[in-house]
Amino acid sequence: VRAEGARPSGDAAVDEAYAHLGSTYKLFWNVYKRHSIDAHGLPLIGTVHYGEDYENAFWNGAQMVFGDGDGEIFNRFTIAVDIIGHELTHGVIDTEAALLYQGQSGALNESLCDVFGALVKQYSLGQTARQADWLVGQGLFTEKVRARALRSMSEPGTAYDDPVLGKDPQPAHMRDYVDTPRDNGGVHINSGIPNRAFYLAATALNGNAWQGAGQVWYDTLCDKRLRHDAGFKDFAGLTIQIAGEKHDAAVRRAIDDAWKAVGVLP
Ligand SMILES: [Zn+2]
Repeated sequence: VRAEGARPSGDAAVDEAYAHLGSTYKLFWNVYKRHSIDAHGLPLIGTVHYGEDYENAFWNGAQMVFGDGDGEIFNRFTIAVDIIGHELTHGVIDTEAALLYQGQSGALNESLCDVFGALVKQYSLGQTARQADWLVGQGLFTEKVRARALRSMSEPGTAYDDPVLGKDPQPAHMRDYVDTPRDNGGVHINSGIPNRAFYLAATALNGNAWQGAGQVWYDTLCDKRLRHDAGFKDFAGLTIQIAGEKHDAAVRRAIDDAWKAVGVLP
């Protein structure tokens, strides 16, 4: 319904998907010189109005699929640019570190998607690290839900507290790490810990989060030394090493402090 360069269709879901797929492409190309998610120019295709009242969005390995939400809990899934950035980053991870979707490597996988989703949003809005809201999926919940967003990267565990949904279960520190067999070992839960580390590093450095901390996270994701089954400590150590190799001492120190603040490093 809307090819590259075509005019707005008038269908909100189509036009949001078009705009946010474009914003995601722009971050990865303009900032990291990555030509689409596979680094080889894969066309970004989205299907909207999937199913009926479908309450999710996903990357199916070849394209994006968006539901309209049920209108009770969820609005349409094209509404939030960072959700689209998040889903497409799963494709980037699949072609780079391919972090196993289980336990800590799975939580790192989820966290990296939140990080680059947030960076797509901040880059498209021209916000510095300190201007950003660091919320993931703002606008996704309807007004009937007591929620600010799906997740908070600055204050994991505070995004929602609602009679139907319950309370945001994300920990913000290793002492509260959740050991659970559910959710592939809590991949959407424990991602709060590395999310907060990124937030702390980016805001300590201020400026644009897609430079500095964002560049280090991107380089780490693409580094051959990052194993498929990397845990939080492995990832943290590699970010510090890469910051030391490619950046000035302030970047390295901010990242080191951030991992210590969330208890990943002693
Ligand atoms: Zn995800």
